[in-house]
Amino acid sequence: DVNVVWMKAQALQATYQVAVLLYDITPVKQIQQMQLDFVSNVSHELKTPVTSILGFTETLLAGAQDEPEVRQEFLTIIAAESKRLTALIQDIIALSRGQQQQLQVASVNIKQTVTNLLVPLQQTIDTKQVTVQLNIAATAQLQTDPHKFEQVVKNLLINGLSYNRQGGRLTVTAEKKAAQWQLSFSDNGLGIAADDQVRIFERFYRVDKARSHHQGGTGLGLAIVKELVTALGGQVRLKSQLGVGSTFTITLPEKIEA
Ligand code: ADP
Repeated sequence: DVNVVWMKAQALQATYQVAVLLYDITPVKQIQQMQLDFVSNVSHELKTPVTSILGFTETLLAGAQDEPEVRQEFLTIIAAESKRLTALIQDIIALSRGQQQQLQVASVNIKQTVTNLLVPLQQTIDTKQVTVQLNIAATAQLQTDPHKFEQVVKNLLINGLSYNRQGGRLTVTAEKKAAQWQLSFSDNGLGIAADDQVRIFERFYRVDKARSHHQGGTGLGLAIVKELVTALGGQVRLKSQLGVGSTFTITLPEKIEA
């Protein structure tokens, strides 16, 4: 019967349309929810240092500035909270940079980049007495977006130092595998438990909030790493054992197109 076939076809088409609709809407809603969560997290993270800066400044103005010791202590807190605020703003800018489609491509020397990025970290290296070892050929080159690449390397170096132990080791190795460069950042520091390993690349996720706060961390470092590495056509992997150490490995194409 032609009518039955027709009705069946209609029903099938309706089911198909509903399925397509569900398939389409779900990720959109998820993205919208993620954006809302992000805005609310950012607002909270921005509010905390601002509240603290304002509170301490007002207390100083109300008379606490007359006591030199109190003044010193409060000003130190204000300076630290202002630094956190700056770090947070820089990280938010880095995240939004990761979402920009446009890539700038240039030739990048891996060893030179790592060496340059270590210069401003020398004070942390000295106080923590971390031995930094670079297993990178002087000729190691890749065609990539220099700013994004630097940001990724910088964040992994900072973490490899911050979450290291006193007198620990940080080894950066670059290996060429076919048309890919594999860069690993290996430390023998705190390590990360398996439950945390799956969440560590989420925005604002920290294993130990107090510790991250103390180090001036924003909880965005690894989220930035993941977004930028993806934008560069690569991947990031983590191997870690609690109390033993962690190795973050990024794989990047040797060449990308602008
Ligand atoms: P943060 O600003 O807190 O460092 P990240 O996104 O860079 O934010 O890292 C998220 C969390 O992952 C950190 O708070 C820390 O607990 C953990 N982590 C990152 N790198 C390491 C590492 N090399 N060793 C141990 N833990 C790490």
